Amino acid sequence: KSLVENKNDLEIQRKDPNCPLYSVKSFEELNLQPNLLKGVYAMGFNAPSKIQETALPTLLADPPQNMIAQSQSGTGKTAAFVLAMLSRVDTSLKHTQVLCLSPTFELALQIGEVASKMSQFCPDLSIRYAVRGEEIARGSKVDGLSIIGTAGKVLDWSITFKFFDLRKITVFVLDEADVMIATQGHQDQSIRIHKNLSTECQMLLFSATYDRAVMDFAENIVSSPVTIKLRREEESVVNIKQYYVNCDSPEAKYRSIANIYGVVTIGQAIIFCHTRKTASWLVEKMTSEGHAVALLSGELSIDQRIQVT
Ligand code: ADP
Repeated sequence: KSLVENKNDLEIQRKDPNCPLYSVKSFEELNLQPNLLKGVYAMGFNAPSKIQETALPTLLADPPQNMIAQSQSGTGKTAAFVLAMLSRVDTSLKHTQVLCLSPTFELALQIGEVASKMSQFCPDLSIRYAVRGEEIARGSKVDGLSIIGTAGKVLDWSITFKFFDLRKITVFVLDEADVMIATQGHQDQSIRIHKNLSTECQMLLFSATYDRAVMDFAENIVSSPVTIKLRREEESVVNIKQYYVNCDSPEAKYRSIANIYGVVTIGQAIIFCHTRKTASWLVEKMTSEGHAVALLSGELSIDQRIQVT
């Protein structure tokens, strides 16, 4: 499998510095605004990650190009598209120009945190969250040049209440597209938002997985994209090891977790469960065995969710 998959064999073109897929080895080579570059370094990023070195030259190129990029979680996708989004904002304009859709409230906040850190030396790059709990007075306009939010709230703000104009968006990012399309409602909402964007808008879609369903959705939303996929072995971070244990029942899963907690010192961990019910069951069981655990699920209020994260 090639690093960059595309009908035109972009793998080879990457070696040509004039090609948009030429990769960079340092953040300096990207000609970022000095204050954004300063923000990147302040975050402790010394050199671009694999997906960043491949994607950023294309993300930042003019004229803007659409992109579909896939690589595992933790490979630097968020930082890549946040940098691209922030680089495109024209602070002499006052309206919202870049929009990022995320499948969940928590993820929207996480992306916002990355954006705030990256723009810490750019006071004019205002960011607004379009998520549950954030309200704007009827008849007024959004005051953020960038909006990061969940699809339902973004639809409300743009179409229902006209707090900002989707046709003026110049960069549209769909993050975790695979998670997004797993919920039919989210998928429909994303498509509705997408339909109201201008044809000039740069469309970027990121996903940790890239199966047929994601691909169909991606190709529907992003026209003539540059597609970047990382080879499996290039994806994982060297200091992260991955293991799996085959379990044939929920009880067996619990025993495995108990085993792991019994043999290794676990500083912080996140355990994902299939349903809210399993999650509450597990919290109760682990708490009764003396572990300090907290529950994070959609049933909780926003304040409760923020406190847990
Ligand atoms: P993804 O969106 O693919 O899950 P993130 O952008 O969240 O990945 O990055 C994963 C982690 O790696 C984060 O903690 C982030 O701060 C860090 N990171 C991202 N890019 C770099 C970089 N170039 N150098 C060092 N750390 C980085």
